[in-house]
Amino acid sequence: MTPTHGYAVHSSTTAAAPFDFERRKLGSSDVLIDIEFCGVCHTDIHQARNDWGNAIYPMVPGHEIVGTVSAIGSSVTKFKVGDKAAVGTFVDSCRECQSCKDGEEVYCDRDLVLPTYNAKDQNGKITFGGYSNNIVVDEAFTLHVPANLDLAATAPLLCAGITTYSPLKHWKVGPGSKVGIVGLGGLGHMALKFSHALGAQTIQFTTSNGKVDDAKRLGADEVILTKGEGWQAAHAKSFDFILDCVSAPHDIVPYLSLLKRDAVYCTVGIPSEPLRAPAFALAMGRKRVTGSASGGIKETQEMLEFCSKHNIVSDIEMTTFDKLEDAWNRVVKGDVKYRFVLDLKSL
Ligand code: NAP
Ligand code: ZN
Repeated sequence: MTPTHGYAVHSSTTAAAPFDFERRKLGSSDVLIDIEFCGVCHTDIHQARNDWGNAIYPMVPGHEIVGTVSAIGSSVTKFKVGDKAAVGTFVDSCRECQSCKDGEEVYCDRDLVLPTYNAKDQNGKITFGGYSNNIVVDEAFTLHVPANLDLAATAPLLCAGITTYSPLKHWKVGPGSKVGIVGLGGLGHMALKFSHALGAQTIQFTTSNGKVDDAKRLGADEVILTKGEGWQAAHAKSFDFILDCVSAPHDIVPYLSLLKRDAVYCTVGIPSEPLRAPAFALAMGRKRVTGSASGGIKETQEMLEFCSKHNIVSDIEMTTFDKLEDAWNRVVKGDVKYRFVLDLKSL
């Protein structure tokens, strides 16, 4: 293989810099994808800055990958050269356990789900993600991109999209449900679009004055600013499901008071501090607090088809590698509308 060009971080305190490396040789079931666009997920920043304490350097982030297939292995049947293809948050799993058989590879019972970056494969090689000009992935972990969707705006669907679609489907939101989305960022704005498209009454919670009009445009029936006190009073015990898409530590107790009896508070946001809830806030009303990871391959393809049918993509700001540090800083400040996407031509 010829060298791959990318951007890597080498420590939690240094900026990403140009980095060349070798992808594995194309195996019989592999596809080689020339990457055209890669979304910037808040996870990239958590990982690069070692917020979760599990960073492996050098790290080439990026798990919202779209591009064009440029070579295929001898036994590949799903793809041909020239097809548009996408890769999300993981690139392999054990494929044999019950979760993998159920199409829930992200929850592989043997803990062999292999993240797209910041992990080590079976040969001990570090996985490198989509901040790079190509990637080699087994076709079983590669997605088809519907032709009617804008390619750059499709990239964020591979993480922000599936991570919010999956819990909304799992907890069966739809007509008749009252759903809350907490945080209007990359994940939050996709959650809002999906909840609205699924027919649920959807309420957006945000800490940002400047996002209220956008939230309505994106499908919110109502927007609640959560600055100050007392904002929760009007909605006590009325929600069936609340999806928390917040990246930073925050108080979930006011939201628990909004749940109906037996209703569900699900976090997809992964702040670096544990969620805290007094036992009373859970016991009174038999509240359920849970979490959800991205989603399996079958469901990711289903989500892409749902987007194709409903004409849903991410609202994006295009950016380039020379502005990456600025883009990351803006994401941390909650100042992106609503997902940065890297143009790989800028490498
Ligand atoms: P993002 O674009 O930065 O959005 C996060 C939003 O959280 C912000 O836009 C802001 O919304 C809100 N927020 C930020 N700081 C806050 C604070 N101190 N208090 C209250 N609200 C605050 O991030 P993202 O890419 O959507 O990712 C969100 C989280 O999900 C991250 O922790 C990421 O690692 C995690 N994630 C998890 C999975 C998974 O598999 N579960 C997958 C992908 C990402 P407002 O301005 O509207 O308040
Ligand atoms: Zn992500």
